[in-house]
Amino acid sequence: MARSVSAHRALVAFFLPWLLHCARLEAAAEGTPPWFWPWPPVGGGDDPYCLSWRVMVEANNAKGWRTVPAPCVGYVRGYMAWGQYYRDVGSVADQAAAYAAQISAPAADGLDAWVLDVDDTCLSNQPYYQAKQFGAYDPVAFKMWASRGVCPGIPAMQWLFQTLKGRGFRVFLVTGRDEETLGSSTAANLAAAGFSGYDRLIMRGTGYRGQTSVAFKSAVRRQLAAEGYRLRGNVGDQWSDLQGGCVGDRVFKVPNPMYFVP
Ligand SMILES: [Mg+2]
Repeated sequence: MARSVSAHRALVAFFLPWLLHCARLEAAAEGTPPWFWPWPPVGGGDDPYCLSWRVMVEANNAKGWRTVPAPCVGYVRGYMAWGQYYRDVGSVADQAAAYAAQISAPAADGLDAWVLDVDDTCLSNQPYYQAKQFGAYDPVAFKMWASRGVCPGIPAMQWLFQTLKGRGFRVFLVTGRDEETLGSSTAANLAAAGFSGYDRLIMRGTGYRGQTSVAFKSAVRRQLAAEGYRLRGNVGDQWSDLQGGCVGDRVFKVPNPMYFVP
């Protein structure tokens, strides 16, 4: 009898976490909290204040914020983890792909191009920021995270990347990450995440250290334009990816309520 009870407990101890994990994955795909999650989810769901705050962030009406407001940390965690974020990114990718399909076939000169940002456009830093409770930017800790090269790829953006490549566009990946210290880990991370076959990975060189993202990325795009490329589209999770000079014929903003880059 004692052996039967302990075997039963062992089965419960093994299978219960697995069942909860499966329920969480299923719920994330549905964009809802899992059945065992307290309702309403902590700080998430349809919290009016946080919904309003997120719209302000995405519309670029809230500028210069350094952390997610304390009452919205749970809301942002839920938004990022339970599926709505991936649904929203998927919608952006759909719109970008539809626009790309409307463009007449890229010219034979091979100069029709797109620019994609890297962090939280192609590669996700959600695990890092979630572990930090969406707190203030910590350059040392972030560099340690990025140097590990383990950022997951964002599936909808992997699909958009492949779609653009398949249609014949040049794709340039442009990131404010430091080239000297994060160059090799970023390239390896992109390859592991399915971003292979881009035309150039352009990172922040020593000459651009200390410059704003707008200044650095504008200079990169101007250089591409000077090389003759026609920037048809530009995709990024920060407005600073999409503002400044030579922004491209159309810009697409990927949602990001985790942090703000000026
Ligand atoms: Mg980014």
